[in-house]
Amino acid sequence: MSMPTSSTDSTPDRPAPPRWSKRSPYQARVLVNRRLSLAGSSKEIHHFELDLGDSGIEYQPGDALAVLPVNPPALVQALLDALELDPDTDVDGVPLRERLLRDWEIATPHRSLMKALAERDPDSELAHVTDRGDKDALHHFLWGRDVLDLLHASPTVRFTPVELAKVFRPLQPRAYSISSSPLRHPGRAHLTVAAVRYTGHGGNRVHGGVCSTFLADRAGVAPARYGEAAGVTETIGVFPQPNKSFRLPGDDAAAIMIGPGTGLAPFRGFLHERAERGARGGNWLFFGDQHRAFDYLYADEIAQFEADGVLTELDLAFSRDQTEKIYVQDRMFARAAELWAWLQDGAHVYVCGDGQRMARDVDAALHHIVAKQGGLDADAAATYIKDLKKAKRYVRDVW
Ligand SMILES: Cc1cc2nc3c(=O)[nH]c(=O)nc-3n(C[C@H](O)[C@H](O)[C@H](O)COP(=O)(O)OP(=O)(O)OC[C@H]3O[C@@H](n4cnc5c(N)ncnc54)[C@H](O)[C@@H]3O)c2cc1C
Repeated sequence: MSMPTSSTDSTPDRPAPPRWSKRSPYQARVLVNRRLSLAGSSKEIHHFELDLGDSGIEYQPGDALAVLPVNPPALVQALLDALELDPDTDVDGVPLRERLLRDWEIATPHRSLMKALAERDPDSELAHVTDRGDKDALHHFLWGRDVLDLLHASPTVRFTPVELAKVFRPLQPRAYSISSSPLRHPGRAHLTVAAVRYTGHGGNRVHGGVCSTFLADRAGVAPARYGEAAGVTETIGVFPQPNKSFRLPGDDAAAIMIGPGTGLAPFRGFLHERAERGARGGNWLFFGDQHRAFDYLYADEIAQFEADGVLTELDLAFSRDQTEKIYVQDRMFARAAELWAWLQDGAHVYVCGDGQRMARDVDAALHHIVAKQGGLDADAAATYIKDLKKAKRYVRDVW
């Protein structure tokens, strides 16, 4: 689609401002919402295909797409019931129900809500924990509790809609790594999303991550099957979130990709892109999860990449398929000599996924491998890795 140009614009080289944003998202049609992890898995991972239509959104593998979630109608109703509020009350020109659905973070409690609750119900457990001023104790108390749990624990407390506007934070978009290549799937963006669900405090209600369960449960699934009232939607608000530091190397350079679980997302895009470009550089994928039978995401495509020679090396780590746990970093250790050879030949290393444990363990493994294979002491190995980072040959996209 050609963009209109302004006749008064005398600086044509200046990049156009981003067209789609949090305030002005593009409504992308959800063409596919398919569960990837199979029955039996403890994970629930979905594959999405979005139609970018006439949005003009262009992306490169490694970029993310931000999604604007909508809160679950059932949770909105439960909050209205708990606070005995009329959903049609006007809040700055918008009905309260709409505000609760689209504008406010109503699951994870914000500091101002906790402060207000503690003031209004000084005998509550929340008030006692906040009074102590112990951050760890508060974190422990809040783990598994959402706003509704806190309201149920203080059943006499009420907030007016105007007060709610002050104690809720604005609902934030969530980023998802794009798992496709525009060369392979023009006009579309694929996402690979783990639905966050856990049993809340007290064990009587399943809590859901706001955006991941919005996508899994209500994006693009047939309204006729689930009912309009369930909040099912055929389009979702998105905007691009480029990541210039997470880009494929030149076609002749090798890429080592370490992405267990949904960390595989950008690497699926990388591999499709490399295949379409006929890139000659080697591709080495480390992937893992709990069980091969249920959790091997995109297994057919990966087999095809291997058969086509796009994947030069593939190492899989399914942690719970044998008595001793095996993770991607264990596979790296097992292939230490080859990894070192690839690094010495100029390979780029990419890590994507869980930023809490996996990225740290993979980083430690890389340091050990460089030290042992390169005959370096710990400081020299650290310098080697630092230099890789400086040369943008060791990059991470972790969350
Ligand atoms: C650049 C980037 C790329 C990303 N790419 C992807 C991707 O490709 N795929 C993907 O799935 N995600 C990806 N993410 C993560 C994604 O953005 C969201 O953070 C994720 O989907 C959770 O959001 P949510 O709205 O569902 O959960 P939220 O409503 O934000 O809730 C998450 C919170 O729930 C709480 N919680 C979670 N589990 C438990 C538990 N067991 N017990 C108690 N409390 C718990 C924690 O406090 C946690 O912070 C990416 C993030 C970034 C920054």
